[in-house]
Amino acid sequence: MNPRLRLQPQSVGLGMTSQRVRDRLVERLREAGITDERVLNVVRTLPRHLFVDEALASRAYEDTALPIGQGQTISQPWVVARMTEVLLDVAPAKVLEVGTGSGYQAAVLAALGLEVYTVERIGELLRQARKRFRTLGMNIRSKHDDGRVGWAEHGPYDAVIVTAAAPALVPALVEQLRPGGVLVAPVGGSSSQNLVRLTRREDGSVEETRLAAVAFVPLLSGMVD
Ligand code: SAH
Repeated sequence: MNPRLRLQPQSVGLGMTSQRVRDRLVERLREAGITDERVLNVVRTLPRHLFVDEALASRAYEDTALPIGQGQTISQPWVVARMTEVLLDVAPAKVLEVGTGSGYQAAVLAALGLEVYTVERIGELLRQARKRFRTLGMNIRSKHDDGRVGWAEHGPYDAVIVTAAAPALVPALVEQLRPGGVLVAPVGGSSSQNLVRLTRREDGSVEETRLAAVAFVPLLSGMVD
């Protein structure tokens, strides 16, 4: 747990966002095959309800994706937990996320002590996510850009996580992985997607594994204010 993570005192004990409700979510994730205690502990302590609109706060600890405006969603907790577990396998220090959205996935990674770089194409979502990072005292570097080009300036990364779906893995993102690094991304169209793990071997060759069927919003080109 990152000691810099300051939790809001008012975020605990609030009925629908109480510790008991969070513990229930952690039990659900365990039943659904999440085993990494570090990840489960972050899900237990990070206030997911601060990453959605107040009107949806009472549903923040359900294992479901929720709307965050601009036609986008905060990913389902199981998906966040599973992708995080996959990244932790390579003991990463520095990670790039494409698709900041609410900022929840980035905050999970930062709470685990990783150095996080995150890119979002919708300016309004990024502004809200940055506010949340400040509230939580999290030092997460973020950029308003089309994340399909990655963020070469800070690469190579030990891990890359893409939280929007594309028909194929994006070559620029694979190139910004260090040898031995891992990329996890949803691959597919609007009707069927697979969570794919790509490992870049020391000799430069890559190995791909399909992990699960998932449903993400699409990875789009260009930027929006
Ligand atoms: N990781 C987010 C998930 C948000 S949904 C969370 O935890 O809340 C995926 C996000 O990817 C959306 O906010 C969408 O705007 C963004 N996105 C889609 N295409 C993108 C691109 N090319 N570059 C950067 N972000 C993109």
